[in-house]
Amino acid sequence: MHTEMITTPDLAWQEEALCAQTGADFFFPEPGSSVRDAKRICALCPIRSACLEYALSNDERFGVWGGLSEKERLALRRTAH
Ligand code: SF4
Repeated sequence: MHTEMITTPDLAWQEEALCAQTGADFFFPEPGSSVRDAKRICALCPIRSACLEYALSNDERFGVWGGLSEKERLALRRTAH
């Protein structure tokens, strides 16, 4: 007998996300737009580290996560290898 166990990631940390209070627009700006405001909010966020770790672990390609832009996360991933 084959049983498959489906687990869902523990995303409880997201309840403290400051971006949940501000809306997603800052964090997913139009291409070429500034991410400065998103980064300012991330700098004050109590779960910044968990957020960045989640984005890196789940290969989130778009938007600002954990205070880093798409390009910054890509650079961090490359230096980590
Ligand atoms: S670090 Fe930034 S993107 Fe991540 S949860 Fe906090 S405010 Fe949102």
